[in-house]
Amino acid sequence: MAYVITQNCCKDASCVPVCPVDCIRPVTPPDGFTTTEMLYIDPEACIDCGACQEECPVDAIYYEDELPADLEPFRDLNARYFAQQPTEPAAIPEQPRHTDLSPSTLRVAVVGAGPAGCYAAAELLAVAGVDIDVYERLPTPYGLVRAGVAPDHQHTKAITKLFDQAFRNKRLTCHFNVEIGRDLSHEELAAHHHAVIYAIGASQGRLLGIPGEQLNGCHSAAEFVGWYNGHPDHAAREFTLSGERAVIIGNGNVALDIARVLLTPVENLRTTDITENALNALAQSAIREVVIVARRDARNAAFSVGEFLALGSLPGVDVVIENGNLEPHAGDDVETAVKLEIAREYAQQPQTPGHKRIVFRFLAPPAEIIGESCVEGLRVGPDDDVIATSLVLRSTGYRGSPVDGLSFDQVSGTIPNDRGRVVDADGRPQAGLYTTGWIKRGPSGVIGTNRACAEQTVARMWEDFDNGDLSGPLPARGEVDRLLGERGVTPLEWHDWGTIDAAERERGAEAARPRLKFVSIAEMVATARS
Ligand code: NAP
Repeated sequence: MAYVITQNCCKDASCVPVCPVDCIRPVTPPDGFTTTEMLYIDPEACIDCGACQEECPVDAIYYEDELPADLEPFRDLNARYFAQQPTEPAAIPEQPRHTDLSPSTLRVAVVGAGPAGCYAAAELLAVAGVDIDVYERLPTPYGLVRAGVAPDHQHTKAITKLFDQAFRNKRLTCHFNVEIGRDLSHEELAAHHHAVIYAIGASQGRLLGIPGEQLNGCHSAAEFVGWYNGHPDHAAREFTLSGERAVIIGNGNVALDIARVLLTPVENLRTTDITENALNALAQSAIREVVIVARRDARNAAFSVGEFLALGSLPGVDVVIENGNLEPHAGDDVETAVKLEIAREYAQQPQTPGHKRIVFRFLAPPAEIIGESCVEGLRVGPDDDVIATSLVLRSTGYRGSPVDGLSFDQVSGTIPNDRGRVVDADGRPQAGLYTTGWIKRGPSGVIGTNRACAEQTVARMWEDFDNGDLSGPLPARGEVDRLLGERGVTPLEWHDWGTIDAAERERGAEAARPRLKFVSIAEMVATARS
């Protein structure tokens, strides 16, 4: 018997060092990233000790005998990974941490309290003598864990428990509800800290550059996901759910999240933390078919195996594979081979009368969104077919926004950097400025990918510290809040978030839901102050 890693593996690799027989792969190399979608346990080597399961922050690891029926295929997937990679080298030992410093030697600002900022803060806290100020523009922490992770993936949200350990540390101070670039300039922030780490994510949807994107009924995934998750920027939006068909462009995991939310029975969503507004709109929705359109073939699909497999368990929904070459190639990696296998199974399944449908259409590059003032269809290549619809969602990735005073790459939508150290337009390193997460590497990877990303960034900071670049006297630590006070800004602290969190949970408990989110900044601030 063995333990098995399943669908919602966050890849932060907390499980790897606790395994006494070193049987979890792949292991992140120092200063690098792994390319697999998840981690795998070698069933031949596993000794059933359960240490990995205890350590997993998102409850993704099961004892083989206790696998829920819908996760059974992961037993085979874990084993197949090792059948194909028998010679993978042993785990790379953890890198030594920087030596501890005397109290308050180094003051670091982390901008952004999402997973990237949280992992950076945790990495900094591992060394004594570092004080951390976390700035976050919203009154709430956790970034995409709160506002991105789909409401039916509540297990994934359990990772916040890991982040809370950092937030509760006395060397970390939260300044939520403060926007750098609006309430405080980048230069002011830099003047009050030895180092600044930007972890501000990538919250803007990408435009495709095809005609018709401005039509009513065409939206980015960022808007739609922000709407159902109650992000204050998007919670009040309205979407056309009156047609029978929605079309999503792009077939990454965000597209699959949206398809599920659109077609999951509302009574199932009612047990999650989806917003009331979204729930009411979805209860009235006429959508019965979601077409997921991709420009490339099935073997290049961006979704991950686990998410693709899980679609098959959606009650009352058939998964339809409309076209594409589903045959494997010799030399396919195990994840591609399994994706194609699952696609072939879906393709062979008979459709059930009365069921809703998720339709995968491959090799159909989007060419034009058609309509007068509202969306009426999407024209796709190569044959100029028109898919009739009144709702088109562009799920084609995200891009970051620039911060005044900081270099920015307009093409990739990221802050230019060398392994996390910010560089200027000429590629020169900017001492004391760092970046991590999606604003550093672009919108790729799962939550735990940000752990290795933060380690890489913080290692650059320690190099600069050891070079003597991060020293010098700073204004007193409370000066920033005094400045903010003069500007009429009310920073919220960790205990303020505690008040908001408790109120959301209390409202949720009355409706047998995990929480009922506040969706406006004013409501959140008022609750924190109540
Ligand atoms: P993604 O995985 O990068 O997928 C983007 C999709 O958009 C791809 O299908 C891509 O096609 C397509 N695309 C991009 N530009 C296009 C264009 N000009 N025309 C047509 N199609 C275009 O992005 P995502 O779905 O936004 O996800 C972002 C990250 O978050 C990913 O790493 C994802 O795994 C992660 N995430 C994970 C979960 C989960 O684990 N449950 C949930 C949500 C998100 P090409 O491949 O042809 O470029």
